[in-house]
Amino acid sequence: MKLTVLGSGTSIPHPRRASPGFWLETGNHKVLLDIGPDIPHRMAEEHLDWPDIDAIWVSHFHLDHFGGLPPFLFSMRWAPQVANRTKPLRLVGPHGLQDLLQTINDGNNYRLFNQRFSVDVTEIKPDEQFELVPGLLAQTIKTPHTKESLALRLTHSDGKRFVYTSDTGFTEELGVFGKQADMLLMECSFRSNKPLQTHLELTDAMGLAKECDPGKLVLTHLYPEWDAFDLVAESSKLWQGEVIEAKDGLVVMI
Ligand SMILES: [Zn+2]
Ligand SMILES: [Zn+2]
Repeated sequence: MKLTVLGSGTSIPHPRRASPGFWLETGNHKVLLDIGPDIPHRMAEEHLDWPDIDAIWVSHFHLDHFGGLPPFLFSMRWAPQVANRTKPLRLVGPHGLQDLLQTINDGNNYRLFNQRFSVDVTEIKPDEQFELVPGLLAQTIKTPHTKESLALRLTHSDGKRFVYTSDTGFTEELGVFGKQADMLLMECSFRSNKPLQTHLELTDAMGLAKECDPGKLVLTHLYPEWDAFDLVAESSKLWQGEVIEAKDGLVVMI
C-alpha cells in the first residue's frame, strides 16, 4: 500500500498544512481517508487519479474531516474527467452520514447524489468488520472525540496492517486496536498542556506508540503550536521506534 499525505493539519488555516486527508493506493484501488475542505484541490495538486477514486472514509463529522465531501460531490457533477465514469463511488462513515449529506443537499437542492455513476453510502458501527474495497478488510472502534468518531484498522490481502486513529482523546483501547500495525497514522494535536481532552498530546501519543509498537509511526493533525518544535526529536526521547512527521505531499509505503 502507498499513502500520500494530503493534509497534515487541522481546521486552522496554515500555510503548509492543509486540513486532514490521506490518499491510500492498494494496487487496484484508491481510497481517501477523511476529506477536509482543502482536499479536493489537494488531490489535483498531487496529480492523484481522483476521477477514479473507489471509496471515501469519513472518520467523523467535524468539518476539517468531512467538509470537503459536499464540494467534491458537487464538482463531480461537472468535472469532464468523470464524464465516462460508471464505477460506483462508495462513501463510508459513522451512523448519520447519509442524513448529514442529505440535509446539506436539500439546503439548496445541490443534487449531490445525481451523478453519472451511483453514490453508495454505507454507515458503520463501532467494532464492525467490513470490506472497504475488495482486498482491504476494515475494522473500527469508537474513539473519545465526538459521539460518532471512529478509528480504522485496515488489513490488506498481502498481510500489511494500517491503522488510522483520526481525532481521538487518550484511551488504552487504542493501544490494543493499533497493536503491531505496519503503519500507525496517529493524531498528535498538541505538544503539552492540551486544551482539550478529546485530542492527544505528545506523551499520550508516545504512550500509545509503546503499546502498539508499529513498524512506522506517522504523527499528524498537527496544530500550529508544533511549528516551533522538532516533533521527531521530541518523540524520539519517549519512544525508540521510527517516527515520521506528516507533511503535506509526503508519500510513505506500507
Ligand atoms: Zn480534526
Ligand atoms: Zn475532530
